[in-house]
Amino acid sequence: MSPRQAPMNIDPDLLARTKGFLDPAEGAWLYRLAREASRLGPCLEIGSYCGKSTLYLGAGCRANGGILYALDHHGGSEEQQPGQPYCDPDLVDPRTGRVDTFAHFRRTVASAGLTETVVPVVAPSAVAARQWRTPLALVFIDGGHTFAAAFTDYNAWTAHLLPGGALAIHDIFETPAEGGQAPRHVYELARASGLFEDRGRVKTLGVLQRRSAGQLPPDLPR
Ligand code: MG
Repeated sequence: MSPRQAPMNIDPDLLARTKGFLDPAEGAWLYRLAREASRLGPCLEIGSYCGKSTLYLGAGCRANGGILYALDHHGGSEEQQPGQPYCDPDLVDPRTGRVDTFAHFRRTVASAGLTETVVPVVAPSAVAARQWRTPLALVFIDGGHTFAAAFTDYNAWTAHLLPGGALAIHDIFETPAEGGQAPRHVYELARASGLFEDRGRVKTLGVLQRRSAGQLPPDLPR
């Protein structure tokens, strides 16, 4: 291992220059989760943006020769549109005036040597989910933060989680002053469902683990 490589085998310079909203401690946990889950099956992230979380999850999957599906329409979420508080002018395509993160994302994945690991799915979440049949070992929800978007992601994708698979939810804030509340509501809904074991929190990242049929409370359908 060269001294410039982090133990996770992710180039720290690439991590530093990749745009995104992910704390390094959260990223390190995503790496460990993907490394564990990818022995079970493919992983999915919802909301790739420019590929920062993809670097962590992809590196974890790569360690097992696994696959990470990276789902994003790449048009930016609501708060990232031109004129909105989280708009980054670098990501606005001057020809169309619209946010387009896909070129940045592809560059990140290629720079990290993750093209044999990461499968981009460029579509709205609900469209990608419509005929999805592949069981998943990890679902990371970090897409649109409206209630409608967050609940759609939860309903559409957690149904595909394998027993023992991980559900990770980003941007869980306790109060509206800290951030939007939709991810926290989805997290609490999942915790109350009886379908998951609680694996705890690191900063704004909450992780749950899908119970197998034998572990479910008796009043839940198998
Ligand atoms: Mg996020």
